[in-house]
Amino acid sequence: MKITPGVFLRVLKKGTRRYFAGAILAVAAVGMPVWYWAADQGAAPGGSATPAPAFDSARAFEHLKQLVAIGPRPAGSAAIREARAYITRQLASEGFTVEQQPFTAASPYGAVEMVNLIVTLRGRRPERLLIAGHYDTKLMPNQSFVGASDGASSAAALIELARVLKQRPHELTYEIVWFDGEEAFVDWTGLDHTYGSRYYVQAATNANALSTIKALILLDMVGDRELQIRRDRNSTAWLNDVIWAAAKRTGHGQTFLDLDTEIEDDHLPFIEAGVPAVDLIDLDYPQWHTPADDLSHVSAQSLQIVGDVVLAALPEIERR
Ligand SMILES: [Zn+2]
Repeated sequence: MKITPGVFLRVLKKGTRRYFAGAILAVAAVGMPVWYWAADQGAAPGGSATPAPAFDSARAFEHLKQLVAIGPRPAGSAAIREARAYITRQLASEGFTVEQQPFTAASPYGAVEMVNLIVTLRGRRPERLLIAGHYDTKLMPNQSFVGASDGASSAAALIELARVLKQRPHELTYEIVWFDGEEAFVDWTGLDHTYGSRYYVQAATNANALSTIKALILLDMVGDRELQIRRDRNSTAWLNDVIWAAAKRTGHGQTFLDLDTEIEDDHLPFIEAGVPAVDLIDLDYPQWHTPADDLSHVSAQSLQIVGDVVLAALPEIERR
């Protein structure tokens, strides 16, 4: 991903805080109970005492470590096949069927075989909410770039989010997507980036399925141990509002700053296709695209914050 050159930061006026109460029981005209759950309240539907399963950053951080241990994982490499196998094994052990979306990308170095991974959690409605991130790392010739935050953090958090969401009831259908080929092979210019997300949008467009996507939540570089996330001006305003309100409500206003920035990332193909999308990214990371993006600069706590905030925001996003 890339920050727009010459970008300036400015303090936003604090948005209207949105609150929502616990479980809302609505009865549809046909008499079928329709409910929503309140993730950050731990409330289960129907008044049951079973707490909603929580995001476990110890699990997520273990995934991050395992991915980093594979080494550099650029698109098309043997190592990214290993990363794919790791993600797939973890999801299979939770009972998921992992769908592969293979495609051939035209890179500056010629054709590269890439694969997006998709897990679907069917809800009561076919309308889809995508939660995604990339799992490739930037090709850095002659450097050991292991992408602890840039690549591993999003891929790891998504594995844990899938596990948690599987145990939570939901109205919408959730799709968790691991994009291949986010990184540029050479430079972030022209079409040398976001290969996986662009292919996903193209395939959904061809299948006439784009209109069933309600929103995309994109995670990228969420491992920084000094995590600070700014509102991305390229993201959809209402999604930013909902997520920043959830961050304040859950006590993470120090991480989700009332500052903005402008990011080019895997959300842009969706935005350009008219799909509401938000990018949660901490690009204020001195180790970005350096060999120092390693385990010593990321933390489980940062994954926890992002996991908690995303889960807290989902009920409101479903209601929109
Ligand atoms: Zn990157």
